[in-house]
Amino acid sequence: MTRLEFDALDYRADQRFVPARYRFEGSATEGWRIHRDGVLALELGPGYRLLRTQSCGVCSTDLARQFLPFPLPQVIGHEVIATDETGQRFVVEINASHAARGVASACPFCNAGLHTHCPERIVLGIHDLPGGFGPYLLAPIHACVPIPASIPDSAAVLVEPFAAALHAVATIAPRDGERIAVLGPRRLGMLVVAALAGVRAQHRRRGEDFSIAALARDPALLELARGFGATEAHAIDDDAGALPDASFDVVIDTTGNPGALPTALRLARREVHLKSTHGRESCGLRHLTELVVDELAIEALPKHAPAPGSLHWETDMTGRRLRVAWLPQTAPPRWLTGFADLRMGDAASLAADFGQDRDGLPRADVAVVDCAAQIDAVIRPRVGREEALIRPRGSVLVHPSAEPCGSALLIAVMTRGLRLSSSRCGDFRAALALLEGDAELRRIGERLVTHRFGAERLAEAFAVAKSRACIKAVVTHSDLAAR
Ligand SMILES: [Zn+2]
Ligand SMILES: [Zn+2]
Repeated sequence: MTRLEFDALDYRADQRFVPARYRFEGSATEGWRIHRDGVLALELGPGYRLLRTQSCGVCSTDLARQFLPFPLPQVIGHEVIATDETGQRFVVEINASHAARGVASACPFCNAGLHTHCPERIVLGIHDLPGGFGPYLLAPIHACVPIPASIPDSAAVLVEPFAAALHAVATIAPRDGERIAVLGPRRLGMLVVAALAGVRAQHRRRGEDFSIAALARDPALLELARGFGATEAHAIDDDAGALPDASFDVVIDTTGNPGALPTALRLARREVHLKSTHGRESCGLRHLTELVVDELAIEALPKHAPAPGSLHWETDMTGRRLRVAWLPQTAPPRWLTGFADLRMGDAASLAADFGQDRDGLPRADVAVVDCAAQIDAVIRPRVGREEALIRPRGSVLVHPSAEPCGSALLIAVMTRGLRLSSSRCGDFRAALALLEGDAELRRIGERLVTHRFGAERLAEAFAVAKSRACIKAVVTHSDLAAR
């Protein structure tokens, strides 16, 4: 059994960092007990190993931490490089699921390959599990991915957000000839530009192409975006008024600003992809952050029977009959009842009903709604329970006769057939492979990280990370923190 005491800075609900004395006690096979200032704060089951934190990036999720629905105080920070007792470097995937911990379980989410959505997971530096702004971590054993020797620390510390950026690109799946825009490229958005450039290089090798547009207010950011592979750069004001409607096929909103969504909706033809977890209301929806956490989409229910196979939500991912939650008062169309297991009711009662399913995921695959309030109800149907009516990566379908309630999002979905998609975590191995094969890309850290701090200067790192002068701040631990 290991027993270790150290000081770490807790992030509190009043947005201050306050020192606390931590004690980790346990082992990977027996589980761990975490004490804060002598009081038991958290008990972990087996499947976690002790690592020493080397460095940790500051991301927008950290800066918006007080808006997120997880308990505080906590040692936060989730973009880590950590080392084991031999000095081997690891990046650490943040979701502590059954699969990541390697514990046997009947969890339908882990068993369906949705381990980043495991309902029993806690999350490194975001939800309960002490994070990388402290000198030590308890990392899920299968979440520790060794960093290849060719990848420098400066790039490795960006693997978590770069993997997320790459996942966003995979979700929108750029098509030949399209114009893809990144709105507000900064600490995450610049990595989305880099990921788009990496994927574009692959497309060009097979004779296809798409363009990458950076949209920002600050000319210096546009210049940087060109360096990361943007093929066009547009200086915009608050609502990008100089750019005509539907200028781009896809707009990826990386601003972290709830006020940017209407602009993204106006500029996009096919799809808006949301990467921000800002925790605040936008376009009449309260649960957009939870939408991103669950990687849900919002799109139109077709007015008429679509051609078989033309809808990406039509086949259920687990091979069973598609499960549809129907919330509108109007009767469902026959083409849908023909092939789906369709159940009608309000969001809370449908959540309880689908929750009893024992074959596969205990959720609906899609939900049909006819107003903005129902979208919020689908995303979080039951107060105090962080679970949606529909499964991760499922869709909310807006009925053609819905009441848009003045929401720019519903209006765009209903009148233009626009799709809103979202994504969260990505695959670290895919990100590392792309970095390994691309010497130019391995320089992302040199280009993006503008500020570095010792871990004891965390409050200062946060203040600077919030300022316009900073793109990416990284905190590094010294050897003196432990005893
Ligand atoms: Zn992050
Ligand atoms: Zn699980």
